[in-house]
Amino acid sequence: MTKKIAVFPGSFDPFTKGHEDIVRRALPLFDELYIAFGRNVAKERLFDVTAQMQSVARVFADEPKAKVIEYQGLTCDFCHNIGAQYIVRGLRNALDFQYESEMAAINKDLAPDIETLFILTNPRWAHLSSSTVRELYKHCGPYQNFLPSNECEK
Ligand code: ADP
Repeated sequence: MTKKIAVFPGSFDPFTKGHEDIVRRALPLFDELYIAFGRNVAKERLFDVTAQMQSVARVFADEPKAKVIEYQGLTCDFCHNIGAQYIVRGLRNALDFQYESEMAAINKDLAPDIETLFILTNPRWAHLSSSTVRELYKHCGPYQNFLPSNECEK
């Protein structure tokens, strides 16, 4: 049987407990799940991508299905390169829905063979975004509270 391979793409600047929750809930659905850090040269990061990727790899060290990877370019091209049939995204609210449905529609145009699947946020993390965590970090707030197991350092 063909392996079910999914990509969970994002900026993950940083990777939060909300992202962790989506990954843990997506893992049982697939044979492999790539947590894919999209490189965007136009967008400067606050949290170092290499350190973040190492932290996320440690968080999922006991989950052989979870892989951490960086990619450039279009997500659907990356999916084709690694043989993934699914894109997983999280949905928190109507704003996410608006943006995500447009992205999913464009990806469907570009790559009809790839299905985007959405997982609704755990209400516990519905208010949580990477941008809020960045603000907390800049103002010396307890940003680690919102990172997986206080794992992800800058
Ligand atoms: P991007 O820059 O591609 O939007 P993000 O790293 O901000 O990347 O988010 C990646 C995915 O995770 C998106 O689908 C986003 O909606 C989802 N996400 C972000 N925060 C949460 C959260 N707290 N709960 C559920 N999903 C989330």
